[in-house]
Amino acid sequence: MHGTHRDSIRTATRTPLPAIAGGGASGTLAAVHQLNRAGAPLRPRVVLIDDDGRHGRGVAYATPDPAHLLNTPAAAMSAYSGDPHHLVRWATDLGRATGGGDLLTRYDYGDYLRDTLAAQELLHGGLELRTDRVTGIALGPYGRPVLRCATLGPLTADIAIVATGHLPSAGDVTADPDLAGTLIADGIARPEPLRLGLETRDGALLTPYGHPHDRLFTLGPPRRGALDDSTAVPKIRAKAERLAERITTLLDRP
Ligand SMILES: Cc1cc2nc3c(=O)[nH]c(=O)nc-3n(C[C@H](O)[C@H](O)[C@H](O)COP(=O)(O)OP(=O)(O)OC[C@H]3O[C@@H](n4cnc5c(N)ncnc54)[C@H](O)[C@@H]3O)c2cc1C
Repeated sequence: MHGTHRDSIRTATRTPLPAIAGGGASGTLAAVHQLNRAGAPLRPRVVLIDDDGRHGRGVAYATPDPAHLLNTPAAAMSAYSGDPHHLVRWATDLGRATGGGDLLTRYDYGDYLRDTLAAQELLHGGLELRTDRVTGIALGPYGRPVLRCATLGPLTADIAIVATGHLPSAGDVTADPDLAGTLIADGIARPEPLRLGLETRDGALLTPYGHPHDRLFTLGPPRRGALDDSTAVPKIRAKAERLAERITTLLDRP
């Protein structure tokens, strides 16, 4: 039997497990906010999987070149919309900025995302970082996502978030050799009409028949083409916060 909206996501005896494919800014912000909501009755175990082991950095924030600066001032790049000065405090404490108008290096911003994630892990526990490639996602019993991991094998999760970032095949997601393209080829997801990204409703992937999955979500560039599409950090942060709220509700559902 496969999952429907009426299936229980929660199990009384097991730690709920959201798994995130892709450990760049999108996956990291998703993990930060999922852990930040860990005051909920069931504390999740969040698994963040990045194929390059660049958790917290991804493509944009891995460059060590000090000439590579953010194009957005520090004041707009906090991980928490409710605490807009969080990044500025972090950067001034470490002597990397003097105020909210400063442009940090992209590497510093990666350090910030990594530190913010580590702080959540320290507070709540439950974070597992894996270096592995997610090659596909199947739906197991009760519609639970089974992430096919190239090295460590299948991982059965309660929720999967596709945060695999920029699509290598600019222009046509169906030609993407990475996870987004595979999900379409495997009949799990469908492209949005312009084929720029995956079709979503409030971040949930749509099945080929246009129904929203209740356990499969995406964040960041794979949403390219959607009306609310945006790949800038302030927008990704807002979506990560909403997604964490929604997933917590799903995981707590009796
Ligand atoms: C050069 C650059 C500068 C930017 N500067 C700014 C800025 O100043 N301000 C701003 O607001 N925004 C900026 N952005 C935009 C925004 O921050 C990025 O779009 C954002 O980093 C997207 O993050 P992501 O995690 O979705 O994707 P990515 O950074 O692409 O990360 C995805 C991660 O997933 C991994 N991955 C991919 N496929 C798999 C798989 N199958 N299994 C496991 N792991 C996988 C990749 O190796 C990568 O580490 C910038 C973007 C770029 C490219």
